[in-house]
Amino acid sequence: MAAASLDPPVEAPAISRLTDSHGRVIHDLRVSITDRCNYKCVYCRTGENGAQYPELRIDEYLRLIELFVSLGITKVRLTGGEPLLRRGLLDLIRDLARLRTYDGRRPDIALTTNGHLLDSLAAPLKAAGLARVTVSMDAVDEPVFERITRVPGSFQSVLAGVRAARAAGLTPLKINCVLLRGFNDDQVEGFARFARDEDVIVRFIEFMPLEEGRLWSPEIVVTLKEIVNRIGRVLPLVPLPAHEASETARRYTFADGKGEIGIIAPVSQAFCGACSRVRLTSDGKIRTCLFSQIEHDLYGRMRAGAPNEELRAWIVDTIKGKEARHHIGESGFLKPSRSMVHIGG
Ligand code: SAM
Repeated sequence: MAAASLDPPVEAPAISRLTDSHGRVIHDLRVSITDRCNYKCVYCRTGENGAQYPELRIDEYLRLIELFVSLGITKVRLTGGEPLLRRGLLDLIRDLARLRTYDGRRPDIALTTNGHLLDSLAAPLKAAGLARVTVSMDAVDEPVFERITRVPGSFQSVLAGVRAARAAGLTPLKINCVLLRGFNDDQVEGFARFARDEDVIVRFIEFMPLEEGRLWSPEIVVTLKEIVNRIGRVLPLVPLPAHEASETARRYTFADGKGEIGIIAPVSQAFCGACSRVRLTSDGKIRTCLFSQIEHDLYGRMRAGAPNEELRAWIVDTIKGKEARHHIGESGFLKPSRSMVHIGG
């Protein structure tokens, strides 16, 4: 008996890949499916219930993502806001898992979450077709963690979520930690141990000027160099080769080869030259750079009835205009009109 065939893609994939005018191939799409969040991390949100952007229906996200996949996107990362708050998430992942990339494979489907609801959702997410999760966790010390999230009980929920994700096979499991001087920079060494004890990849991210309030300054950023020096004093680090040219993290293991940490240094060692990413906001706007000053209303065109061919041509054109690089730290730098929680990290 012939094996059951997988559902075919809605339309045949286009042959050409998405490229920008700087010669970069764009293969990584980040999609925010809500900008609501159940945490109020001090470096991200003000703590007020500020402006909210509209959300699309789940089938609308699917149609938009399908367009990108047909143009050569191979990695889709769902984010927010907090994506686990979004009703219909499992259906979306199931449908995404049926898509095929230009080379006939299933897209690499990942998700970034604060982990608060992951304990009960990890196994269903895996069963739906999710490959990996990245959990954001900014301290290994409970009181420090909850001073940042401003949600009592959040540390134990996230720890349970991390362990459930690992048990469900949502691996390799990455933990993202944004370091801020004076808030959680004392957690660096603890995280190095956590990476080894919990068998997770901890990635430190330099704080970028994308917060709702006005916290960012060059002095508050804990740089790659400083992190490597601090960990190295406790546990000597050995650099690891990059998996691919567009990898954002510098990777290290420890002298005994057990455990991995990564450092993402968009501020002190920008990696724009190898950027392969483009973003879709929860209200269906394309952002070609985290720091874009303009957004491109893809959903508006779809709603107005544009056929897929026209939308594809418009996406190809839009991506051509991707910015060469960001200008953090330069005079005249302008923060984008939306903060990270509303763009989709
Ligand atoms: N709620 C999910 C979460 O917590 O991972 C997804 C959205 S959150 C905006 C995505 C990531 O962006 C988190 O890892 C968060 O720490 C990071 N982030 C938020 N603001 C940032 C900033 N200003 N600089 C660097 N990373 C930031």
